[in-house]
Amino acid sequence: AAPKIAIIGRPNVGKSTLFNRLAGKPLAIVDDQPGVTRDRREADGRLGDLKLRLIDTAGFDDLAAAGMEREMRAQTEAAVAACDLCLFVVDARSGVTALDETFADLIRRSGKPVVLIANKAEGRAGEGGRNEAWALGLGDPVAMSAAHGEGLGELYAAVAGKL
Ligand code: GDP
Ligand code: MG
Repeated sequence: AAPKIAIIGRPNVGKSTLFNRLAGKPLAIVDDQPGVTRDRREADGRLGDLKLRLIDTAGFDDLAAAGMEREMRAQTEAAVAACDLCLFVVDARSGVTALDETFADLIRRSGKPVVLIANKAEGRAGEGGRNEAWALGLGDPVAMSAAHGEGLGELYAAVAGKL
């Protein structure tokens, strides 16, 4: 069976964009509104010659008003528990936030292998954020652009090295 890859991170960092990029077809809803992915989505995907089973997830902070943060956290924890490898996505443009640290702790506690992704790094916009991502202590971040399809070779090398 294809290894299960959970795409984890706070809302609006580009998880669903990455999911769609690796699935090769638009299955997850991408929206400018944070937290729009409320239910977990799965699809078969591909990265180079690797066949992957992708799990997209929602974040949870902005759903507090809807009383759903517990569910979102549970969904993230379930996806991490079910996966062989986490892709932990942060936003290289906005830098690392307290919520990113919460997700990092959750992943670290799980003991699952993780590839850290500094997304939205097209052009030179993501350089500062990449350094901040490095400080999360989850290894060297892969700087990429899910929206523009940049950095997929580096992502492939990182993922293949951990499966
Ligand atoms: P999610 O909440 O983590 O699933 O994030 P989405 O995939 O829904 O994306 C949130 C926003 O970030 C959308 O407006 C995307 O178009 C945008 N986005 C995603 N990836 C990139 C990227 O690589 N570069 C830039 N500049 N924007 C991106
Ligand atoms: Mg999403």
